[in-house]
Amino acid sequence: MHSLQATDPEIHDLIRKEERRQASTIRLIPSENYASRAVMEATGSVLTNKYSEGYAGKRYYEGQEFIDQIEEIAIARAKALFGAQHANVQPYSGSPANQAVYVALLVPGDTVMGLSLPFGGHLTHGWKVNFSGIQYRAVQYEVHPETHRIDLDQVADLARRERPKIIFAGGTAYPRIWDFEGFGRIASEVGAVLVADIAHISGLVASGVHPHPFPHAPIVTTTTHKTLRGPRGGMILSDGTYAKQIDRAVFPGLQGGPHNHTTAAIAVALKEAATEEFRQYSRQIVANARALAAALLERGFRLISGGTDNHLILIDVTPRGINGKPAARALQKAGIECNYNTIPFDPRKPFDPSGLRIGTPAITSRGLLEGHMAQIADWMDRALRACEDDEKLAAIREEIAEFCTDFPAPGIRVE
Ligand SMILES: *Cc1c(COP(=O)(O)O)cnc(C)c1O
Repeated sequence: MHSLQATDPEIHDLIRKEERRQASTIRLIPSENYASRAVMEATGSVLTNKYSEGYAGKRYYEGQEFIDQIEEIAIARAKALFGAQHANVQPYSGSPANQAVYVALLVPGDTVMGLSLPFGGHLTHGWKVNFSGIQYRAVQYEVHPETHRIDLDQVADLARRERPKIIFAGGTAYPRIWDFEGFGRIASEVGAVLVADIAHISGLVASGVHPHPFPHAPIVTTTTHKTLRGPRGGMILSDGTYAKQIDRAVFPGLQGGPHNHTTAAIAVALKEAATEEFRQYSRQIVANARALAAALLERGFRLISGGTDNHLILIDVTPRGINGKPAARALQKAGIECNYNTIPFDPRKPFDPSGLRIGTPAITSRGLLEGHMAQIADWMDRALRACEDDEKLAAIREEIAEFCTDFPAPGIRVE
């Protein structure tokens, strides 16, 4: 990055520091990953210079001969990887992708149903401070009070009573399999459109490690930067039923020019995700999450729903005499990055909840295997015991930095 160094040493220096931070700490934030160097090269290319409002063959600017090909390759790869009839790869990220579905199918005031945010749902599934809860009439399902799993009877009761036009299935802090087939039955019974938001699990779905939302959901939304390991972006996949409305909602309904550098990087990530190597990677994410959950249970941690089926684990840390926020802070000081999170029926406030959310996509990208999970659980256990002791936390951080040198993060070159 010599040009950047010459033009703006201040920003260059901060990026270098962030690079070293990412390389020398253990990243357990389940929505984060390491994109490959190839993905980053596409993201950092001249495609950022080009305007191309519209879709391939129907643009509002000249000079699209290569941009059109890039977007068409990205679309073809998305359709092939997910078995979709239609794909829109222009949404700027996951939230705008969901917003486009609202614009495509609803008018303000219509009823939408989703998993409540404090129970693991996403903001854009009808939470009250989000556009989805402000402009639409949102009704929210929760998880079962004992099993902490989604209770399809509760979902069906709510859907029959409230008659939503859209039902969202998907979340940000749900460690279990989504029964898309069951949701599909409920949606067709009440005449709703099922939208599967697979932002967190799209890499697992693409690899066949998690059940597929097609044909149960006609519309599937996703981010491209979580388990899919691409650039920050979003996609809307569908069985074709709502193709026209979706395309019109993205442009001109919500967005102007697509981010062509991101589109190209999405195409690269989709190519990477179609390989046997990536399928093996996805299986390893789940195997690592299971092994980490088992190692945490052995050390007395309380896991929501008792474990995990996917890439993420939700921990109630309050039985250890600590709350989520100070626990996340202590782990951060020890070189383990995660986030504090509400747990189902959390008696505490969202800005200082009872839980921690962790996951294995990023550490699996670095090549960690099941055998390494006991070591991570051990570091977490020690860090939470030493949460007031900055010296002990710094010592763990040293051990972790040393450990990390054996597992270089994809896409990061640290001198
Ligand atoms: C991450 C996520 C999103 C939104 O993605 P952004 O890119 O942060 O806007 C939407 N839905 C779910 C379920 C997510 O996990």
